[in-house]
Amino acid sequence: MRDRRELDDLLRRLNGKGYGAYKSLEGVWRFPKFVLFVDHVQGDPFATPSRLRVRVPMEIAGIPHEFYRNKSRKTALEDFLVRQLARWIPKVTKGNRGSGHSGRFSVVAFGQCILHRTAVWVTEEHVEAILSVGLPAAGRRILGHEAAEMLLSELPELVRRALFFVNLDKAALREHVACGEDADALREQLAERGLVAFVAEGAILPRESGVSDRPLGEGAIPFEPPPSLSVTLERPNRGPIRGMGIPEGVTLIVGGGYHGKSTLLSALAQGVYNHIPGDGREYVVTRREAVVIRAEDGRFVCGVDISPFISNLPNGTDTRNFSTQNASGSTSQAANIMEALEAGAKVLLVDEDTSATNFMIRDERMQELVVKEKEPITPFLDKVRPLYRDHGVSSILVMGGSGDYFEVADCVIMMDAYRPRDVTDKAKEIVRKYPLRRRPEGGERFGSIPRRVPDLSSIRPRTPKGKLKIRASKMALQLGSSVIDLSRIHQIAEVPQARAIGYILAYIAENGRRFAGKPLAEILDEVERALEAEGLWAFIPARYGDLAAPRRFEVAAALNRLRTLRLRDGKV
Ligand code: ADP
Ligand code: MG
Repeated sequence: MRDRRELDDLLRRLNGKGYGAYKSLEGVWRFPKFVLFVDHVQGDPFATPSRLRVRVPMEIAGIPHEFYRNKSRKTALEDFLVRQLARWIPKVTKGNRGSGHSGRFSVVAFGQCILHRTAVWVTEEHVEAILSVGLPAAGRRILGHEAAEMLLSELPELVRRALFFVNLDKAALREHVACGEDADALREQLAERGLVAFVAEGAILPRESGVSDRPLGEGAIPFEPPPSLSVTLERPNRGPIRGMGIPEGVTLIVGGGYHGKSTLLSALAQGVYNHIPGDGREYVVTRREAVVIRAEDGRFVCGVDISPFISNLPNGTDTRNFSTQNASGSTSQAANIMEALEAGAKVLLVDEDTSATNFMIRDERMQELVVKEKEPITPFLDKVRPLYRDHGVSSILVMGGSGDYFEVADCVIMMDAYRPRDVTDKAKEIVRKYPLRRRPEGGERFGSIPRRVPDLSSIRPRTPKGKLKIRASKMALQLGSSVIDLSRIHQIAEVPQARAIGYILAYIAENGRRFAGKPLAEILDEVERALEAEGLWAFIPARYGDLAAPRRFEVAAALNRLRTLRLRDGKV
């Protein structure tokens, strides 16, 4: 192994040479306190920056075992260290020096969630971190002395500040780890208490703005659980906590416009993830299998059985095997539900703001005018109870516009100036007072859940030249030559998750021996098992630092929107 002095000599020799000469940095370098792996050197100053990895022995990093003694804690610790790197980069590195990305250090971007990330990982033996570094140049000429300053003085300082326990803010670290572990523990108590979600007293649900996931500062009204729905759950680190428990079954959130209904539902949707201290939603937790359902007109659909909701389309299309390049509002919402169920959803989260009206309701007068034989859609209203009864799938619906749902609800929560009230009894009384004459249309049973077998050769993660191509943004995921629209998949919290989905899909496509002929649900089981056992490393060809773990539902959602997707049995 070459040492830091040799690196110094090499960098000074490279000064003034063509950029390509940086390639000789690739390999392993021994520093006094860590080992530096130069895993990838960029081709020119404008290309994606070089990938560096540092490995600090645990005797030197000195992080006590208690901070990573279980999975919840380890994930939170790693997440914390990623944030420390990001925090210290602008303080200990000079930044831009030369052309293109010259001089810049960076670590993966992150938001408000505590997630399993590839940027930092901790074992009993060491702490390892991945950084992007723009190796400096003037034009295309190597700036060797600048590079020496970056790698031999800035980098060690960054590692010391962000990864050595002695230099960390212990109180903040303790809080971060406790927060992640407590949220996981709360989530685990939901099922045994017959709950699908929990919103702690004092939680801050509203966000700063429509484009920011940070908490609303001034004017935010803290959450106050209604007494009749109050439950107390246990936290391993911070003791018992009171909050509103949302029971299994069908729950309605009603209330006037602008009273905080959608804000509550969004917080529940994000409650499948843990949040950092100070977020306001630290102790808002939802079952891991909760999926947001919305209308998504224009989306692609591949061979989905939507017959529980849609049948007798005017063009004679078979809705047990429904495919389209351009779904309507109602058919897209039906497909979204059926796909979520196929992937294993146990809770559906539906907001009237993003639903197709004709999918949600069909009232008495409309039944009179448009007879059943002329209406392909069975509204969700008539399926929401059979769905719970037959398949144990609960629903939480924001429904300010139709009282027809009182009939099918187990629990009705009214948001009143951002304060929830339990109005279940009142709603039931109204049901008795004004009985509906509308005829239920859904039949006795919900219908069966799809079990499609994808044709793996229709997932093509490579360009025609054979290069693996995965590019993610907030709105889209490029996979090979295809672009998948992610703009309406609400539970992708961060771009690094979208990137990870890209690698997981590529892995599925290219491991035919393991996955071919299997139904999607089983493929997702295996992906989840690998993720559980090996983390994201199972799916990526090299040590990339810019991934965060997605859920199975978002992996499925991306695959379902891949317009080249075909099924195995030749259907579609
Ligand atoms: P609804 O869906 O009932 O029409 P929203 O959930 O969209 O209402 O909320 C309306 C506005 O009120 C939003 O700007 C939201 O950020 C804000 N808001 C929601 N909850 C709170 C709260 N607890 N405190 C302060 N403002 C809130
Ligand atoms: Mg709303």
